[in-house]
Amino acid sequence: MIKNIVEWFLSILFPQRCLSCLSYILPQEILCHSCISHIVLRNDFVCATCGKRIPPTHTEATCHRDSFLLFAATDYGIKQSRDLVYALKYKHIISAASYISFLIKIALQNSKINVHSHFVVIPIPVSPEKKHSRGYNQAEYITRFFVERIQQGVNFSTKILFKKSGIKSQIECANYKERAQNIHNGFFVKNTDEIFGKTVLLFDDVFTSGATMKEAVKTLKRAGARRVIGIVFAKA
Ligand SMILES: [Zn+2]
Ligand SMILES: [Zn+2]
Repeated sequence: MIKNIVEWFLSILFPQRCLSCLSYILPQEILCHSCISHIVLRNDFVCATCGKRIPPTHTEATCHRDSFLLFAATDYGIKQSRDLVYALKYKHIISAASYISFLIKIALQNSKINVHSHFVVIPIPVSPEKKHSRGYNQAEYITRFFVERIQQGVNFSTKILFKKSGIKSQIECANYKERAQNIHNGFFVKNTDEIFGKTVLLFDDVFTSGATMKEAVKTLKRAGARRVIGIVFAKA
């Protein structure tokens, strides 16, 4: 009762705003209904190399050798999708990660792919420097919320894939070649027995050039993972 009164009072003093268009929303909401309706969800897996759609019945292979299966819940070209990621990454609005994980869950359900309990679920790590400056890894939040939502008892771990220190941010690179060179051998794996022969779902917030995720997938496969599927909220 007292909590409700306090919340009501706070909502009068500090009304909640949609993080994309700034219109007023209810305290538990993050986007207004209009902005939510703009986020179109996808339900297809694509080849991470060429972007070609892979039918749900053929998800054991991709059209390109050394590629991997990628699932993006939505498009980064959609302003509301970008605003969600921006709020999480740069404004420390952690509830954006919860909503992002909800959208990934719905999109994955629509794709008709089952997340099995023997899958290993890993977020793309950030470098120790980035973790220190930002205070958290946004991909880790998205992954944690996702695992809580699906209630499948999958093996979620942040103790398997690590990013080396001293790697500059991919944003500072001019093109794909530079990005690929920058991140080359940028990851390492510990506790390899946890992924050996397994399917790994590798989570990130955004897939842009793909250089980071490709390097991480290569590292996990070298360490013995049978298959790695990239799962991101938005693809550029
Ligand atoms: Zn809005
Ligand atoms: Zn391809």
